[in-house]
Amino acid sequence: MYRRNREIVIIGAGLAGLSAGFILSRAGRQITIIEKDPTVGGLSKTVNHRGFRFDLGGHRFITRSKKIEHFVMDILKGDFLVVPRKSKIYMLNRYFYYPLRPINALFGLGLHTTLKIISDYCKERVKNSLKPANIISLEDWVVTLFGRKMFNLYFREYSEKVWGVDCRNISKEWVARRIEGLSLWSAIKNAFLKFSGKEIATLSDKFIYPPNGIGQIADRLREEIEEGNPVLTNTRVMQIYHEDFSIRDVIAKNCKYLYDVKGSEFISSMPLTNLVLLLQPAAPDDILEAASQLKYRDLIIVAVMLDRERVTDLTWMYFPEKGIPLGRIHEPKNWSPKMAPEGNTHIVAEFFCFKGDTLWNSSDEELTSITVKHLGKLGFINESDVIDSCIVRVPNAYPLFDVGYWEHYNKIMNYLKNFRNLHIIGRGGKFRYYNMDHAMESGIEVAEDILRKPLPEKESEPLLVGA
Ligand SMILES: Cc1cc2nc3c(=O)[nH]c(=O)nc-3n(C[C@H](O)[C@H](O)[C@H](O)COP(=O)(O)OP(=O)(O)OC[C@H]3O[C@@H](n4cnc5c(N)ncnc54)[C@H](O)[C@@H]3O)c2cc1C
Repeated sequence: MYRRNREIVIIGAGLAGLSAGFILSRAGRQITIIEKDPTVGGLSKTVNHRGFRFDLGGHRFITRSKKIEHFVMDILKGDFLVVPRKSKIYMLNRYFYYPLRPINALFGLGLHTTLKIISDYCKERVKNSLKPANIISLEDWVVTLFGRKMFNLYFREYSEKVWGVDCRNISKEWVARRIEGLSLWSAIKNAFLKFSGKEIATLSDKFIYPPNGIGQIADRLREEIEEGNPVLTNTRVMQIYHEDFSIRDVIAKNCKYLYDVKGSEFISSMPLTNLVLLLQPAAPDDILEAASQLKYRDLIIVAVMLDRERVTDLTWMYFPEKGIPLGRIHEPKNWSPKMAPEGNTHIVAEFFCFKGDTLWNSSDEELTSITVKHLGKLGFINESDVIDSCIVRVPNAYPLFDVGYWEHYNKIMNYLKNFRNLHIIGRGGKFRYYNMDHAMESGIEVAEDILRKPLPEKESEPLLVGA
């Protein structure tokens, strides 16, 4: 067994863990980052398959935080593109701009449907001014804000596809955060007036993108960290030992070695439920029970490589309808020309699923065939254009906020906050619907908190490698 004694141990080399690691390394602290995957970046990595690059679902970088914006710009050293966002949604056998543009929607939906949307919206406004609605679920939230017709038409099917549960069982917290500050009026205001600098994040029409894919941010952070500290990839944390509510060490394993890494501070960005399961001695039964109730939604990415120059000019395309199994597609070349070899392009499809369900267990050939069939039916490609494909299964892509999750979540967090040297960060770690900027922010904040603490007394051997 290899024994390491590092001051700070970071579990997970997604953007949250890497951002924490970057701040701590730059401040001269000794850290070890442990990552189970062969590459860094977590959900924000870019896969390179024979020269075709793709993100795990196209990742655009936008933020309201100047601090995070500067952090990313500094890391990329100016090597980024500013890409216009132009997305569409397929409903009622037609494509509409996404977010909806009033004129496009009016002509596409027809006068009757448009009037019904407006009248349902007004009805909800009046009802709410008389008696505020009791909002529990995503359905309550959207109907109250946009009206019933808009919910049925625009939100219901896509949300149910993403989450895999009925909208009445999805907690309002997800949607309130996701479409923060958005009302029908603001959407219309945005569409017509485009108040510069005041746009709502969900609706912004430009974003930052590194030329080699979003994974470039994580790769750059890794480079900087590795100037003084190790990032152990392909290495999985298996157990987390503690005593008197203080984490003592983690046991991690790769195909060659078993590591026992001691530290004074531990930062975890791994899924919250897994963290609870790895504690030794084991967490109390009620905490383990609460962890078993929290769920994540998983994702399959199917990239189909084509012998064609270009298929669309769009950023994303959304497919809410149940009859189409994929939820969203994007063409990476529209994000950066470097994403595909010259003369070729690829389409990347996202399938939302649960680990172990029929889709998850489908073979790579089956998944490619489903994707090609539906892209063909939708008129994007011909089967004869397809030259290759690549499938990536992504566990724990979305924390699932079903109604009642909050109680389990609180129980776990109240227990974990007793550990004085354990810091929880990131999307899966904190069980939050974080975008990249929030994930990075959570890592940076924890790193800054640690830097404010007095330095621990030096152990006799800072880095001991033994047999
Ligand atoms: C389909 C999709 C599209 C998205 N699009 C956008 C977008 O356009 N813009 C945006 O800002 N955000 C987007 N996001 C969100 C963004 O991906 C996340 O906010 C961000 O990547 C989270 O980073 P993280 O470090 O918190 O978590 P993660 O990336 O999940 O990192 C956690 C890391 O921990 C590792 N790990 C887990 N268990 C262990 C273990 N036992 N031992 C060692 N390592 C372990 C994992 O392998 C992983 O690398 C999207 C997410 C998805 C799923």
